[in-house]
Amino acid sequence: MSEEYLIQSQETGFDRVLAFTLPARHARGRVVRLGPVLETILSAHDYPSVVKHLLAEALVLTALMGSLLKDDGAQLTVQAQAEGGAVDLLVCDYRSGEVRGYLRHDADRVAELADHPTLDALFGKGYLAITFDLAVSGERYQGVVPLEGASLAQAFEQYFAQSEQVPTCLRVSVRESGPRCIAGGMLVQHFPDGEEGRERLHAKEDHPEWTHVAIMAGSVRDEELVDPGLHLEQVLWRLFHEEEEVRVEPLLHLERGCRCTVEHYKSILARFPEDQLAEMREDDGTIAVDCAFCSKILKIPA
Ligand SMILES: [Zn+2]
Repeated sequence: MSEEYLIQSQETGFDRVLAFTLPARHARGRVVRLGPVLETILSAHDYPSVVKHLLAEALVLTALMGSLLKDDGAQLTVQAQAEGGAVDLLVCDYRSGEVRGYLRHDADRVAELADHPTLDALFGKGYLAITFDLAVSGERYQGVVPLEGASLAQAFEQYFAQSEQVPTCLRVSVRESGPRCIAGGMLVQHFPDGEEGRERLHAKEDHPEWTHVAIMAGSVRDEELVDPGLHLEQVLWRLFHEEEEVRVEPLLHLERGCRCTVEHYKSILARFPEDQLAEMREDDGTIAVDCAFCSKILKIPA
């Protein structure tokens, strides 16, 4: 990675999430742009362009949603599972600013896809499961929606509408040129004061203040989300400068993170009975464990 690129990434907010609220409109949002972190994740695999694009979209959506978590150490896992398409599994997760992801595809089927394939061509029939593991309380919540719509972002909007009943607008854009890949996105949702953490009585899809915000957020151009010369604050200013007030929080830094350490797998394998461990053990006395996120095999002494 060149120094110039690093300087540029610090200046324009690559691999950062900017949180904002529009208090007078009862709306909150996140805007993210992934650069080096995305490239690191993609470089662990030899994915064709169409599949890289899909994973980049999923990572942007995961970062946008994950950064809504208040509880440090809480984890968001996004899993798309499908049959009949070119991709049958996509997994991404977020924990404390760390993101990672991978997908499984049929190379021959992917080669037959058009340049901008529909969600249906990519996945066939499937579902999107969003799971929250809350570190403090140890609770786990899961929402499942069908993988339907024109894009992955639309399937996520359905998740918010159906499982959380929060009207949400999502936009994602990916720019790929050679090995360089930039992906950006925006999430904006209606969030009336005092409603946080409580059961929603009904979704205010037709609320005039929300309709206005959704139109403004929806007017963001794909180029603006991935333009390295445009700060995340500038993206917001362009969209919302006529609003009474836009509050922003300090930028949250994102990293590529994985948990595939020898200690981690040792603790998992310790739960297996000895006869099963004996079956898994190789001649050299170790057990080979495959990390799909990193595309690597670890030899665990167990
Ligand atoms: Zn790993």
